[in-house]
Amino acid sequence: MNKNAWLLYLLTVWTIFSQISVLAGPVVADDENPPVATPTVTYVISMPEPQTHYFEVDMQLKNASATTNAKKNGYLDIKMPVWTPGSYLIREYAKNVDSFTASAAGKTVLSEKVRKNVWRVYSSADNLTIHYRVYANELTVRTNFVDADHGYVTPAGLFMYHDALKNIPLRVVVQPYKTWKNVATGLEPVAGAQYTYEAPDFDLLIDSPIEIGNHKTFSFTASNVPHTVAMFGDVAYDEKRLSADYKRVCEAAATVIGEHPCTHYTFIVHHIPPGGGGLEHLNSTTLETTRNAYATEANYKRFLSLVAHEYFHLWNVKRIRPVALGPFDYENENYTHMLWLSEGCTSFYQEYILRRAGFHTPEAYLGLVASSITEIENQPGSRIQSAAESSWDAWIKGYRPNENSTNTTISYYSKGSVLGSLLNLAILAGSNGERNMDDLMRLLYTEYYKKQKRGFTDDEFRRAAEQIAGRKLDDFFTIGVSSAEPINYAAYFEPVGVQLINVASKTQDGFLGAATTVVNGKSTVSSVRRGSAAYTDGLNVGDEIISVDDVRVGDDLLRQVSGRRVGEKINVLVNRAGLLREIPVTLTQNPLVSYRLEPVENPTSAQKALYTKWLYIK
Ligand SMILES: [Zn+2]
Repeated sequence: MNKNAWLLYLLTVWTIFSQISVLAGPVVADDENPPVATPTVTYVISMPEPQTHYFEVDMQLKNASATTNAKKNGYLDIKMPVWTPGSYLIREYAKNVDSFTASAAGKTVLSEKVRKNVWRVYSSADNLTIHYRVYANELTVRTNFVDADHGYVTPAGLFMYHDALKNIPLRVVVQPYKTWKNVATGLEPVAGAQYTYEAPDFDLLIDSPIEIGNHKTFSFTASNVPHTVAMFGDVAYDEKRLSADYKRVCEAAATVIGEHPCTHYTFIVHHIPPGGGGLEHLNSTTLETTRNAYATEANYKRFLSLVAHEYFHLWNVKRIRPVALGPFDYENENYTHMLWLSEGCTSFYQEYILRRAGFHTPEAYLGLVASSITEIENQPGSRIQSAAESSWDAWIKGYRPNENSTNTTISYYSKGSVLGSLLNLAILAGSNGERNMDDLMRLLYTEYYKKQKRGFTDDEFRRAAEQIAGRKLDDFFTIGVSSAEPINYAAYFEPVGVQLINVASKTQDGFLGAATTVVNGKSTVSSVRRGSAAYTDGLNVGDEIISVDDVRVGDDLLRQVSGRRVGEKINVLVNRAGLLREIPVTLTQNPLVSYRLEPVENPTSAQKALYTKWLYIK
């Protein structure tokens, strides 16, 4: 839920209340029916022994028994979310909880676990304190962590809730470890109370990670909004350059919608190995990168891409969102076909924003679009799974890959990023350069986020896209989004005078289609490509490769087959589950493509005009 939704909630409650007053006359308190005091929930989180990787949580409920129905039932159920928005996997955060106790007026009350993530507390007391500990030893953007150096809170994995207490303001008091001085979070600080924060409801609390420790910070203003960057991990950086570049990226991102909905924004940046990834939130984000992020130009651009991606999410997915993505059900999977839009088109925008901010040349941008097409076209799963299916099955496939995943799935990030490029081109062409993808994002923001205060359905999105493109987009939606059929790229690139060329060398070298890694010093098959020689002739993932044509294989199977021709037969000796067997394999043609996008030789004036608009060439 967002701020506007919260105001709407207050208005609804007030409207209902005032109607009751009109019907029943003024509510008068008497001894039998005392007025119900407003319930409050305060979480006090501490980490007195950070080296043990534990957060201690006190969840203090006040005046809550009427709202929770504990007064009537004699008990109330306290729950821990099972997943965190933005990361579509059931993570079972309750697995890290221990030492759950509840007390009223200083006395322990009975409690028991009734489901994997639900504790039942047998008390009808108005004021209750629930205490539990959370083991926090996984430092990612979607889990909890605390050690001797710092603490990081993923709220979904730390804060429990009661269903009836989700839509009231909630307070968080952080008690940092005794030598720690800094707390960074997107939560609203409570004036005059150190390390104390407030969220208007549980959704916003869940959407606000917290960094605690002695991290450095710097600030900048972009689009008139104050931004804070919290830097964890010993890392060398040029603060002046970094804040100037953050500002450039953020302001270029803000031009897409033309309105910045935040009053402040926080970046939490973890510099840790292996580094890579981020998680978006309503007015903050956590980025994970390496200590080398600012060391080379290539690394730096990759980092700025990550900044642009997570920052653009503050609009796309946090506010411009499919109907399934908020308000959330924290106990179950939340299904949508549109992660290709929410994630993939954010990936499209991350590079488009860097192009507009001048970090990518037009040529570099073309190279990035071509390489994302190469990536999906080289994955056999792109002919099996559509972008819509990839999104729907994120919970069981995207986030739970196995050795066969590249054969049967396509990432909604990479396919969605290509679809974003194609939809942008379709809108440019359909509107003669009058509009582009920005206009679609603006329409969705205005109509669904601001006006209707809800997410949109698949059909509503399609109608909006066709309205902005000024024509039907059957090919885009039926083939591009909902099928695994080949896309007619040429039709999308023709209006801007660009052609997609496969520059992979047409070699007669044979292709095996198996990759190996060294496991316990043994060359072992790690993947087998669908339709390849290895797939058809029966090499298996897990086979230890002993020899090819009686020559011992060291650590690299591919070196052993290089130089062999298409149609050549090789004998591969493998150890499979302790038995030796010889497998004859007939090498095939190399199916891999490598695309480049090149301007046509003699573009028409219409193509030239669209090309200039497409790539923001001044
Ligand atoms: Zn994302």
